[in-house]
Amino acid sequence: MRKAEGPIVKDLVLVGGGHSHVAVLKGFGMRPLPGVRLTLICRDVHTPYSGMLPGLVAGHYEFDDAHIDLGPLARFAGARFLHDEATGLDLEGRRVLCRGRPPVPYDLLSLNVGSTPAAAAPGAAEHAIPVKPINRFLAHWRDLTERVLASRGRARIGVVGAGAGGVEILLAVRHRLGRLLAEQGRAAGAPEFHLFTDTADILPTHNARVRGKFRRILAERGVSLHPGASVVRVERGRVVLAGGAAVALDEVLWVTEAGAAPWLVESGLAVDERGFARVDDSLRSLSHPEVFAAGDIAAVVRHPRPKSGVFAVRQGRPLAENLRRALLSRPPLPFRPQRRFLSLISTGERYAVASRGPLALEGAWVWRWKDWIDRRFMRRYNELPGMAPADAAPVAAGLAGTEALAEISTLAMRCGGCGAKVGSTVLARALRQLRPVGRPDVLIGLDAPDDAAVVTVPPGMVTVQTVDFFRAFIDDPYVFGAIAANHSLSDIYAMGGEAQSALAIASVPYGIEAKVEDLLVQMMSGAVAVLNEAGVALVGGHTGEGAELALGFAVNGFVARERVLRKAGLRPGDRLILTKPIGTGALLAADMRGKAKGRWIAAALAEMRRSNRAAAAAIHAHGASACTDITGFGLLGHLVEMVRPSAVDVEIELGAIPLLDGALECVRAGIVSSLQPQNLRLRRAIRDLAAVAGDERYPLIFDPQTAGGLLASVPGERAEACVGALKAEGYVRAAVIGRVLAQANAIEPVTLLR
Ligand SMILES: Cc1cc2nc3c(=O)[nH]c(=O)nc-3n(C[C@H](O)[C@H](O)[C@H](O)COP(=O)(O)OP(=O)(O)OC[C@H]3O[C@@H](n4cnc5c(N)ncnc54)[C@H](O)[C@@H]3O)c2cc1C
Repeated sequence: MRKAEGPIVKDLVLVGGGHSHVAVLKGFGMRPLPGVRLTLICRDVHTPYSGMLPGLVAGHYEFDDAHIDLGPLARFAGARFLHDEATGLDLEGRRVLCRGRPPVPYDLLSLNVGSTPAAAAPGAAEHAIPVKPINRFLAHWRDLTERVLASRGRARIGVVGAGAGGVEILLAVRHRLGRLLAEQGRAAGAPEFHLFTDTADILPTHNARVRGKFRRILAERGVSLHPGASVVRVERGRVVLAGGAAVALDEVLWVTEAGAAPWLVESGLAVDERGFARVDDSLRSLSHPEVFAAGDIAAVVRHPRPKSGVFAVRQGRPLAENLRRALLSRPPLPFRPQRRFLSLISTGERYAVASRGPLALEGAWVWRWKDWIDRRFMRRYNELPGMAPADAAPVAAGLAGTEALAEISTLAMRCGGCGAKVGSTVLARALRQLRPVGRPDVLIGLDAPDDAAVVTVPPGMVTVQTVDFFRAFIDDPYVFGAIAANHSLSDIYAMGGEAQSALAIASVPYGIEAKVEDLLVQMMSGAVAVLNEAGVALVGGHTGEGAELALGFAVNGFVARERVLRKAGLRPGDRLILTKPIGTGALLAADMRGKAKGRWIAAALAEMRRSNRAAAAAIHAHGASACTDITGFGLLGHLVEMVRPSAVDVEIELGAIPLLDGALECVRAGIVSSLQPQNLRLRRAIRDLAAVAGDERYPLIFDPQTAGGLLASVPGERAEACVGALKAEGYVRAAVIGRVLAQANAIEPVTLLR
């Protein structure tokens, strides 16, 4: 992982991982700027490449062929990847408002969030499928396919909007559904298609010959064309046109002109009449020079162009250069987009039409040409080169004489000695922004800070105590804080207890006060969100400066003495239940090397954020006799900790162990956690090791887990009901993974079944 060297001086925040920002990320990855922290805030982990979308729908491409994976790309760029949605801008405070975390501050901001279909007719939101945002469309598309395949009759499908996007999507949908129905032997049941446009002709921005070719192609495929037809309302089962005529339809796809995110207008940024950010020739906002925009969301006032991925791609490099120049306090350079550009529009099957100015060519060769161009483009982002050394011109050079530089010099001279406390004002300001829950049994907590917290233990209860500490293993401080807190609470739940209060111990790298404060706020907000959700009061803590970001918690809880669930308690006849899939160690190791797919990491982080609280209640309710949480020693290590004191043997089915998506791929690529070798020593607990050691799933039983699930034993007859209850609580991968046997004569207590 490329980490910013030295303290952070400036924050460049990229909102949206669109076609321009991928070039910015790549550019900064190739030539980093020391002192600049790059942050990508993006709602989606994978950016669909618009050029290949119709081919994906038509079935010519797989998901990964047609998507740029922002996870490894951000890592290559040394950027923090915050998987979140921007919901607004605080331009005065220079902060991006986000759906799932505190506002993210910036010094320089760049927007590349694409567009949404504009001015959809009444009823479209309920009864039509918007093609933008494309990620969402792909989920709708899967559902639509299932509906059409399941229906007995001939489906009627309408596409509203006959620009290149509408025409291409219609032809791609038609091609794919035709193929799928033919595979089912129902070629005659191929859907009926309608294309609506309020313009006099289809493809209004293309030349007459291209339009003629597509009119012919659509007619050959039996598509009913409705030119000059403005859809004014969408109802269940039909669309109503201006003038009152209606067309009966089972499915409606909405692919009309692009619109802008409403929060942009509300922010006060200069926008055009359609709500797109007005920018000058250097892609800089007309109203706020510290804001840049590119792609669909930008309106270049002197060079208006259609909303098209081609322009978003072309703006990538000049945007990267101008952001770099702005960070170095150099004037940005103007960029003049081409007036004419090549469009290669596919026709569903592997055939396409080329359009540029007056040119119009068609053929299977055009599709192959397009395919070659598109794949070459994708390789640029999905096959990343090795890392380059940092730029010789550090950002501080552009800040000579500024306050930031003075502060950096002071920092450079400062002793980073162990445990140096973070300035009390920084800490106080950061803590003020947190809203930890209070509890009546916390007598003295953060609301009235003292030398130590004071809590009461309810009568008849005993105290449960635990402590955990982590170095940041991901770049997102909010999510890291949330997982650290979740992991720390888990021990209390594994003991059958209720968590009551927590003390935090944090370490933050030294830096400019504002940056340190933000880091603390983000990290502690993530943690407090988890503690609050669990009803646990944060009662105090300690923060120091350290080489890296780290966070831990000492957690107190209580439990009735007779309800304490120990590791020792396995009984022959019990079934072993695992509540969450494993593989976080291998996945995080792969992520560090930029080798994990973004969606694997997103799914793994979601599991790490899932609390074990409800799982503990469910296993208790089903008569659990023993329980532990799966963490650093891996599944086998924690299992052995249960087996030995219980004086039993166990049988585990390798195939029944739930695995996180991508975990096996990591193992196949030879990537395992650096902690795994320490866990391997416990293989001596496995009977007939040679029979299973070659299984590709075998290494994962040693994989250290962060915030892993619970491993519990429940009576055999209640195991299935327990798994059902766990699934109902959201632990959808919970499974019975083995059974407890009476102790035999063998030294090894664990048998692995393949
Ligand atoms: C069916 C169809 C086919 C098309 N075919 C072509 C084609 O062949 N060639 C062509 O040039 N153009 C085509 N287009 C147009 C093209 O899709 C867009 O012009 C292009 O995607 C715009 O790129 P962008 O970089 O501006 O944004 P996008 O590529 O849309 O990327 C936006 C990014 O921002 C993220 N995002 C959005 N909102 C937020 C938020 N609030 N917070 C955080 N992140 C956010 C998204 O997750 C995404 O990563 C097609 C459009 C459609 C609908």
